[in-house]
Amino acid sequence: MKMSCLLSPTLREDPSEAEVASHRLMLRAGMIRKLAAGVYNYLPLGYRVIYKVSRIIRQEMNRSGAQELLMPTLLPREIWEESGRWGVYGKELFRIKDRHDHEFCLGPTHEEDITSIARDSLRSYKQLPVNLYQIQTKFRDEIRPRFGIMRCREFIMKDSYSFHSSEESLDKEYKNMFDTYCRIFDRLGLKYKVVEADSGAIGGGFSQEFMVLADTGEEEIFYCESCGYAASRESAGIGEYAVQKNVGQGLVPCREVKTPDKKSIEEVSAFLKIKPTQMIKTLIYETEKGAVAALVRGDHDVNEAKLKKLLGAEDLRLADEKVIEKITKAPVGFAGPVGLKDVKIVADNVVPTIEDGATGANRKDFHLTNVAYGRDFKADQVGDIRYAVHGDVCKKCGKGKFAVTRGIEVGHIFKLGTKYSKKMKATYLDENNKEQPFIMGCYGIGVGRTAAAAIEQNHDKDGIIWPEAIAPFKVAVVPVNNSDEEQMKVAEKIYADLSTKPELTGEVLFDDRDGRVGVKLKDIDLIGIPTKIIIGPKGLKDGKVEVKDRKTGNMRLVEIGRIQFQ
Ligand code: ATP
Ligand code: MG
Repeated sequence: MKMSCLLSPTLREDPSEAEVASHRLMLRAGMIRKLAAGVYNYLPLGYRVIYKVSRIIRQEMNRSGAQELLMPTLLPREIWEESGRWGVYGKELFRIKDRHDHEFCLGPTHEEDITSIARDSLRSYKQLPVNLYQIQTKFRDEIRPRFGIMRCREFIMKDSYSFHSSEESLDKEYKNMFDTYCRIFDRLGLKYKVVEADSGAIGGGFSQEFMVLADTGEEEIFYCESCGYAASRESAGIGEYAVQKNVGQGLVPCREVKTPDKKSIEEVSAFLKIKPTQMIKTLIYETEKGAVAALVRGDHDVNEAKLKKLLGAEDLRLADEKVIEKITKAPVGFAGPVGLKDVKIVADNVVPTIEDGATGANRKDFHLTNVAYGRDFKADQVGDIRYAVHGDVCKKCGKGKFAVTRGIEVGHIFKLGTKYSKKMKATYLDENNKEQPFIMGCYGIGVGRTAAAAIEQNHDKDGIIWPEAIAPFKVAVVPVNNSDEEQMKVAEKIYADLSTKPELTGEVLFDDRDGRVGVKLKDIDLIGIPTKIIIGPKGLKDGKVEVKDRKTGNMRLVEIGRIQFQ
């Protein structure tokens, strides 16, 4: 490709809207252009990267035995009603009507459609397992589109769905996908961690996320320094705390203290001159099984997903003011477990270890101090109901402590089970000719987000440093002065010769633009081409050219006929 013909509108200045390196550099390198909030054009250089990421994904998915298909973007409301998600997906779903007033959505994910395909086309257990995938554009009306193509409203995703007649078969395919994802991200040259995750809106049972490690990542990753277990903040399991000896004895009797207008943990602990770690935070929830008071230490936060799981509740939400007043007989801000009735009390594992605690007195403008678990109150249930923090004990090994790092979620694999097949009555006939719902798995990779994550991990002050496998071009040929006939002749010959090598066909960029060499090299570095071949007067004297590596900055003088690539 001749650079004089390439549409790559590079920018000299940093665009002000870009908060992270990948967004800034993709704009500056002329790879993407914004059309609307969270909606982007991929210009030729950007699309070459997207294409290469997709190609690696496609190769490895095919190798894994999965079959590629293509589903529509336009999905009718009916199948979303069948799965029950039309009502619950919320504002993230783009909904539209056709000229006959039929409702559709723009697919944010394709469980419904693929389940309808399986329902129509897979009849017998003999046809299972099957894994079907597509690389396709998805639509999600994200509340806050940002970071360029990392979180946008229209984006390219690889999504696959597997169908099974047994849990063992699902486990096997899940492992197959796990290994496939590792091969994909290894080939992409990325550093990543696999973390245990919450299943979110897609639902189902077990799931894991592939996280590319980057300081700018939106997700916190908790990993055990001892056993290596890693999990998202949502799902990091915390080991039980050993209850201390003097728990329940209470050193000093519990007493009521006036705390006028002091409601928050910060206000009360400052007023009482105690640390937030001595406070017992009490939150009232409503569930379909009745009201619940959830207790956590003052500096901790309730993890509603964990609480829901522990309670076995389907529906859990914070109680409103009226309910809180009814249960605690006090305005919001003064709830505490002592003397609380008609409500189930659930305490986090740490709460029984708090000595000399302080908490709301269930009376306006009063708190209790010197509160002791076992003596002054007891929980109906004790368990892990909060978000992990740095230094917490790992649940997996029970010994190591959690450290925290940040990452970008690029892939997500789920064991869905029968969530969709049951709702949509998608069944096959088993060995005994009995109808059974399909057992399903689903597996996604964000193609654009993966490309952006590669930049977050690989860039410097001069621009992008693409991993070889997904660089838009592998080599750039740059004559120092293109009004110098000899330099141009040599450059053209190198360009032509390299382009005939199968591994480099279509992979060589020839910078035939007029202008100063310094400016040209700056552009090539910004775009992140792994290798530059620079043809200048000094080298040419000895029949040599400079071969420079983008990543290391190393330069070698190489004889013209001996330019080689690994
Ligand atoms: P997030 O928590 O970041 O919103 P998600 O859990 O909603 O992601 P999934 O439904 O698991 O994402 O989608 C599979 C993959 O699609 C994600 O791992 C991610 O790489 C990509 N992806 C999801 N949302 C977006 C988006 N708004 N823009 C770009 N890529 C996305
Ligand atoms: Mg999301």
